[in-house]
This record gives sequence, C-alpha cells and structure tokens, in this order.
Amino acid sequence: MFKGLFILSLLGLFYFIYYVVDTIAKTSKFQIIGEYFTHFQVKEKAIALTYDDGPNPPYTEELLDVLAEFNAKATFFVIGKNVEQYPETIKLILSRGHEIGNHSYSHSKMVFKNPVFVKSEIEKTDRLLRELGVEKEINFRAPFGFKLVVLPYILAKMQKKNILWNVDPKDYAVSNPNKIKDYIVNLSKPGSIVLLHDGGENCSSTITATRCLLQELQEQGYQFKTVSEMLRLQMG
Ligand SMILES: [Zn+2]
Repeated sequence: MFKGLFILSLLGLFYFIYYVVDTIAKTSKFQIIGEYFTHFQVKEKAIALTYDDGPNPPYTEELLDVLAEFNAKATFFVIGKNVEQYPETIKLILSRGHEIGNHSYSHSKMVFKNPVFVKSEIEKTDRLLRELGVEKEINFRAPFGFKLVVLPYILAKMQKKNILWNVDPKDYAVSNPNKIKDYIVNLSKPGSIVLLHDGGENCSSTITATRCLLQELQEQGYQFKTVSEMLRLQMG
C-alpha cells in the first residue's frame, strides 16, 4: 500500500519536473550556450521574414511569387524529410535568391532526446541541402523553438546559429489573413524576425497576409532581408 503510494508520488514528481522543464524550454528565449538570435541589432528599417516547416507545394511556390512581386527576400527553415520529397521546390527557392535554413529532419522536439539523435537530425538535413546546391552557412531553427542543454551544446560544437524570432502571429491557428498582417505590422521593428509557416495543411491565409504586410511595411520604408543579410548588417 505505502510502496504503491510512494511510487505514485515519485511518478507525480517526475511528471511535474518534466512539465516545468518542458515549459521553460518552450517559452524562454534564453539559451545557455552558443549563438542564438531572437532579433537583430540593426539601424536600417529591415525585417527578416522566415517561413517554417516546408517545402510544401503548391504553397511555397505561391509564396515565392508574392515575394517576387515586392522584390522581398526571405529565409525558409525547411524540414529534411520534406526536402527529400520536394527537392525541386528547394531549387526554386534558391534560384529566386532566398535563403534556406535547417529546421531538423523530422521536426520532433529537441528536448529529452539523446545527443546522437539531435546531431543526426541536423546533419542529415544539412547533407540534403548541400546536395541540392546550398553553399553558404546553414543556420538552424529548433523545432517548436525548443532548446535546453543538449541542442545548444551540439549547435555550438557545429558552430551553428539558432535563429529564433520576436514576432509570432501564430499564423497556423489564424484563418483571417488581416489579423496575421495586423499583428506583424503592429509589432515589427527594425531587426525583427517574423515567424510564419509555409508548411502545414492550408497556408492560403499566410500567403495573403504576406502580400498585405509587404505592401504596408514597404510603404513605411521597410526592406525584407534574409537572415545572413541581417547578420551582415548587424556587424556593421
Ligand atoms: Zn516548425
């Protein structure tokens, strides 16, 4: 009886610790080691638009056409297994002058995972991207923004930057493009990193929101640059 209770409370305690650590990893922008960015320190009116979880035809292609209309550059944090499925879309992103980042191979949480798994998730996706012609530095974005000790340590050893964000309209959960656009227009500042998604079931509202925000922010004098262009601007 007592033994049963003891085990039960121990399990409860473990679950509680798991829950707390999980929450901290998800919500905190703090990272213990390695280089990470939630925004860039730039004086220019420049913003980094980032699109996660693709490539995802036909949405990615549609988005590329919208970006081209405004001569805007963006960064796509792609999932390795989608890269395997849609290599042509990656080539198209590159040919339009955008940037590709690594968003892991399988998009699983990088918390409570062993280092070998985490490293293979990053390396496998890098390898796929290199095969498709990505030549420059490949930055990383943690799936769900998760990070604790293992991921930052591995990223630091691989000399990879973890690119997070400071503007998150949660586009995947909002069907009204105007709401997504308003959120971004209201919160964006020089150096902001905006999180959007071209992956997932239906990205039509994200694409429409992109067209509207490009129009509005361009009228305000903003430019849209890739992550590495922003890093260069930041260095002065
Ligand atoms: Zn993601």
